[in-house]
Amino acid sequence: MADSSQPIADPAPTPTRAGRPLSDELERLTRENSLLRLAVEEMPQGLSVLDGQDCVVLANRHVASVWGVPASLLEPGTTFQTFMTGARASETEASRQQPTPAKGSVGVRRREWLTHDGRSIEVTVTRLADGSTIALHEDITEQRRNEARVAFHARHDPLTALPNRLAMRDELKRQLVRNTRGEELAVLCLDLDRFKIVNDTFGHAVGDLLLTQVADRMRACARGTDYVARMGGDEFAVFQCGTQQPASATALGHRLINALSEPFDLGSQVAQIGASIGIALAPFDGDSPDALLKNADLALYRAKAAGRGTQRFFEPAMDAQAQKRRALEGDLRQALVDGQSQGQLYLAYQPQVDLKTMQVTGVEALLRWAHPTRGNVSPVEFIPLAEETGLIVPIGTWVLAQACRDAVQWPEHVRVAVNVSAVQFTRRALLGEVMAALNDAGLSAQRLEIEITESVLLQDQKQALGLLTELRAQGVRVAMDDFGTGYSSLSYLRSFAFDRIKIDRSFVHDADRNPEARAIVRAIAGLGASLGMAVTAEGVETLPQLDVIRDEACTEVQGYLFSQPRPASEIAGIIERIAQNQWT
Ligand code: C2E
Ligand code: CA
Ligand code: CA
Repeated sequence: MADSSQPIADPAPTPTRAGRPLSDELERLTRENSLLRLAVEEMPQGLSVLDGQDCVVLANRHVASVWGVPASLLEPGTTFQTFMTGARASETEASRQQPTPAKGSVGVRRREWLTHDGRSIEVTVTRLADGSTIALHEDITEQRRNEARVAFHARHDPLTALPNRLAMRDELKRQLVRNTRGEELAVLCLDLDRFKIVNDTFGHAVGDLLLTQVADRMRACARGTDYVARMGGDEFAVFQCGTQQPASATALGHRLINALSEPFDLGSQVAQIGASIGIALAPFDGDSPDALLKNADLALYRAKAAGRGTQRFFEPAMDAQAQKRRALEGDLRQALVDGQSQGQLYLAYQPQVDLKTMQVTGVEALLRWAHPTRGNVSPVEFIPLAEETGLIVPIGTWVLAQACRDAVQWPEHVRVAVNVSAVQFTRRALLGEVMAALNDAGLSAQRLEIEITESVLLQDQKQALGLLTELRAQGVRVAMDDFGTGYSSLSYLRSFAFDRIKIDRSFVHDADRNPEARAIVRAIAGLGASLGMAVTAEGVETLPQLDVIRDEACTEVQGYLFSQPRPASEIAGIIERIAQNQWT
């Protein structure tokens, strides 16, 4: 501890105040002095004063405790050098960047030291004109730890503790800069298949648990310098450097897909998901993090389209394709302005014929796009685009309204069937839009049938079933489209009493030549009969197909054999012709 009899600094001669006896003055000074000493001793930081030769003039007790050294190293007269050797600290990176104040220069400098037992100490040195220094010593270990924690959270995903997108981009950038030898570097973008179903069905807590297990498996698949990150939601990314490409990325991709398709034990549930992967290689597919991530993402998109559980390498053609999609999206936006078709979008209708009476009982509305330069774009191409971009919402609203307006012109017994996409079912507003379409057109609800696919029930099932029930309560009929092509169509038949099942045309098409396809048609027709649902066979093109469909007891039929989808203006005539038995 510092010797309290030492003066703080060279005391300048104190003039006595006029009219005061010297003894009083001395007493005042002594009092002031001991107060000052007390203040210095009790201040929360360490305080030291060194003379021009770096010898200790004064140091309070905190200096020794901050540094964890014996107070004897701070006896007045010892050099600061001796003290630092005893403290065994090293200047940290940050402070070394700050120039040490030159001898003789006056001013304040902050320097940070790291002690050997891992504590951070900040010393703020004020150099005075006479060469002496006053230093404040503070233990900032806790502060540094907090900062490190904050920095960690800014760059890591709190759920899985994996680096986040920001950290991943920075690290990728560093690797790309460092990679001067032109080594190949692979970026893998990974997206979980069916994660949303697990999350929606079992709840977010189970979803979170699943994500942490996914992260663990991914870490286990990675090797050496592989860098695993969570990009957000159910998207992850890995990059590899300094390895043989594309062999290493292919192998890693396979390991990841295999590991993630094994069942996950989530306590009360077991879930089976999967993963799709897109891969981009530097420097061929891009030399910046953004270009590589974008291209790996494009490849991922392709992998998912190819049926999930697969991986794809980026190819330049994918970029061209993506640009084409973006252009198409722009064009589609212009095809519908303020919810009104600008003439390019229109509806074609295809009759549905009752197999007993051979009369048209309904027509299905099918959207058409006559693109000004590309000609007719297939709905198979633009409907998925509209779904991804959300454009299906205004388009779908227009389709409903237009189909109802057209249907009022046809005989009372003819219903109109409208395809409604899963994206539209995520909005509660759908119910109001359906009712408005009916009211505005003056069509009775019983004449509207909506066709949904199982994807409607794959998302928020409670909400979808609620909407279906409300629509039904209003008198609207509901059909299950493309039956037999999904994963679990059967189970959905239990969750809602559909009015109709539509057998996918892939089964119908082969039914007259392929016994398995025919067996499926028979099974679905039987299912419909026992559940009291009408069964429509789609895509009937030939008389032999029609015979099979009739023998297997479907109730309705739809297909080119009776009519191609045709514009609204022709439908009344087609209904009439079919009634006259003039369809072949
Ligand atoms: P979908 O609902 O299964 O519609 C039936 C498709 O089968 C239509 O194709 C129709 O033209 C075609 N088709 C009908 N009869 C035959 C036949 O005998 N042989 C063959 N080979 N095909 C036949 P399209 O018009 O190309 O529509 C394709 C899909 O686009 C539709 O499949 C539907 O999923 C979707 N789509 C069409 N319009 C709309 C719409 O307004 N809204 C929504 N959300 N989707 C729509
Ligand atoms: Ca349909
Ligand atoms: Ca269909």
